[in-house]
Amino acid sequence: MEKPRLPISGTCRCGRVEIEISAPPIMTAACHCRGCQRMSASAYSLTVMIPGQAFRVTKGEPVKGGIKGPQLDHYCCPSCMTWMFTRIAGVDDFVNVRPTMFDDMPWNRPFIETMTADKLSWVETPARHRYEGFPPVEEFPQLLEEFARSL
Ligand SMILES: [Zn+2]
Ligand SMILES: [Zn+2]
Repeated sequence: MEKPRLPISGTCRCGRVEIEISAPPIMTAACHCRGCQRMSASAYSLTVMIPGQAFRVTKGEPVKGGIKGPQLDHYCCPSCMTWMFTRIAGVDDFVNVRPTMFDDMPWNRPFIETMTADKLSWVETPARHRYEGFPPVEEFPQLLEEFARSL
């Protein structure tokens, strides 16, 4: 995979909110759950998991949208309502960022796909690992290591 120059910045649809990442993702994913289908208005959502300290909002003030907690906080532009990133309650190791916010995002290819139980019947992704739900916690270290090697 080609290595882009960091940081990379991205914006919502209207440009009022800008975000920036300064490190490569620790994992990339496609999620087929019904919530992601609804929020992305598409077949599935795409995620790049960015280390918490390597992600920042550089312009504007995102507001909570989606389910508004308690476990997940979906952040959206207050004007165009684009769903830009998600924080998991109590977790600051990483932020789930939507790679489609970035013009130049070499890491938008999903390495894993989750919630295939809800997958639309015609959908196929190039993900290397598929899960009907979410990957078991005990598989995570190996997945992260395998992903890091693939970068
Ligand atoms: Zn916007
Ligand atoms: Zn989902």
